[in-house]
Amino acid sequence: MRIAIIGGGPAGLMAAACLGGAAGVFERGGRPGRKLLLSGGGQCNITHSGGVGDFLPCYGGNGRFLKAALYAFPPEALLGFFRGRGLDFIVREDGKIFPKTLNSASVLEALLKAVRAADFHTSTKVTALRGVSGGFAIETAKETELEKKPLAEKKVYRADKVILAAGGRSCPHTGSDGSGFALAQSLGHTIRWPKPALCGILSPGFESLAGNSFRHTGVAVFRSENGGGGAGRLVLRGEGDLLFTHRGVSGPVILNLSRYIERGDTLAVNFLHPRNPEGFLQAFSAVVKKEPRKTAGTLLAAYSLTRALEDFILARASIPRSKTCATLTRAETRELARQLVRFPAPVAATEDFHSAMTTAGGVSLDEVNPKTMESRIVPGLYFAGEILDIDGDEGGYNLQAAFSTGYLAAQSLAL
Ligand SMILES: Cc1cc2nc3c(=O)[nH]c(=O)nc-3n(C[C@H](O)[C@H](O)[C@H](O)COP(=O)(O)OP(=O)(O)OC[C@H]3O[C@@H](n4cnc5c(N)ncnc54)[C@H](O)[C@@H]3O)c2cc1C
Repeated sequence: MRIAIIGGGPAGLMAAACLGGAAGVFERGGRPGRKLLLSGGGQCNITHSGGVGDFLPCYGGNGRFLKAALYAFPPEALLGFFRGRGLDFIVREDGKIFPKTLNSASVLEALLKAVRAADFHTSTKVTALRGVSGGFAIETAKETELEKKPLAEKKVYRADKVILAAGGRSCPHTGSDGSGFALAQSLGHTIRWPKPALCGILSPGFESLAGNSFRHTGVAVFRSENGGGGAGRLVLRGEGDLLFTHRGVSGPVILNLSRYIERGDTLAVNFLHPRNPEGFLQAFSAVVKKEPRKTAGTLLAAYSLTRALEDFILARASIPRSKTCATLTRAETRELARQLVRFPAPVAATEDFHSAMTTAGGVSLDEVNPKTMESRIVPGLYFAGEILDIDGDEGGYNLQAAFSTGYLAAQSLAL
C-alpha cells in the first residue's frame, strides 16, 4: 500500500478521509473511534469558538507547534467538513461547540462515511514498525478484545509512507495504551515523559464536600523544593469552575492545571476570586470588628458558598458556628479568611491514565516538522493527534488538534 495509517481515532480517520483510496488503516480495536464516542460525555465537544490566535495559548507551552496545522485546517474548516456531511452545530455560551445531535456517534458516523480507505484492518494491532528500503515494514497481529486474548495471525505489510496516529495513553481501554510511543521510539524518536492530563486531583479528606461545585474560583499551585513541608513557591495559577469529588478536586480549572500538577504540591483555592487574598484578609478583619454580634456561621453565609463548605471551614478552623465575632481571636479571624481565599488542598497524586482525558508528553516536537507533521529523523514517517507532545485545555481543543494534525499530515503526504 502507498500510505499506512496506524490508529483509527479522530486523527487517523481524518487523515484517511483526506487520502481516499491511497491509504490503508490499521486499528487494533474491533471498531474505530472509541475514544471519540466517549468525548464530551458522549455529546462530543468537537471544537471551540474563536480563531487560530485564540487557540494557540490553550495548549500549554506547546501551542506554537500547532500554528501551521490550525491554519491549514482551522475550526471553521472542521465544522465545514462535517456540515458538508449533514451535521449541524451549536455554540454554547462558554464557546464550546457540539453537534446539534448532541451525540458523538453522529460525528463518528459522518467521519467514517468520508473515509474511502483502500483497506481498513480492524482488530489489527501494529506490533512493530521498521524502516526498509524505500518504505516501511508494518508487523501486525490480530487482536480481539484488546489483549484479553493472545495475539494471533501475525502478518507483515509494506507501505511507502506511514502516519502514526495511535494516540497517547489516556483511557487505555479505548485502545490507546501507549503502544504508539513504543513504535515511534523503535524508529529513534524521543518520547517526552507521558503524564495523565485533563484529569482530577486526588486529595483525601474532602468526602463531605463531594458534589459541591463553585463558579469562577482562583487556584494557585505551590511546590516545595524538597517535596514536602513548608508553604512552597508559587508555580502557577488558574481560574475557573471547581468541583469537589469523592477522591479530591476536579472541574475545568483543575483539569486545565492537571498537566503541570505534581504529587506533593499544595493547591490554594480562592472561593472569592477575583478578590485579592491579601486585601481580603484585611477587609475580613474589619467586618469582624464592625459586627461583634454576628456569629461565625452568619459571617460565612454572607459569601454565598454552600452550607457544606461553611461547615467544613468552621470544622477545619475548630470554630463553632454560633461563636460571635466579638469572641473570635485574631488567629481565628485570620484562619477563617484564609480558608475562604487560600483554602489548602494537598495533592496526593493526579488521577491516573484511566480517568485522564488526554496525555501530556509524547513524541518530542523537536523531532517533527510542524509545517508537514513529518519526522525530522525518519523521512516518510508522519505523526498526528495525541501521540504528539501536545495537549489542550478542556473545551474542544484536543479534538481540534487531532483533526488538524491528521489533515495536515495527509495534505503534506498527498503533495
Ligand atoms: C472521556 C474523554 C472525553 C473526551 N472529551 C473530549 C471533548 O469533548 N473534546 C475534545 O476536544 N477532546 C476530548 N477528549 C480527548 C480526545 O478524545 C482525544 O484528544 C482524541 O481522541 C485524540 O485522537 P487520536 O486520534 O490522536 O487518538 P485516539 O482517539 O486515542 O485514537 C488512537 C487509535 O489508535 C489505536 N491504536 C493504538 N495503538 C495501536 C496499534 N499499536 N495498532 C493499531 N491501532 C492502535 C487505538 O485503538 C485508537 O483507536 C476526551 C477524551 C476522553 C478520554
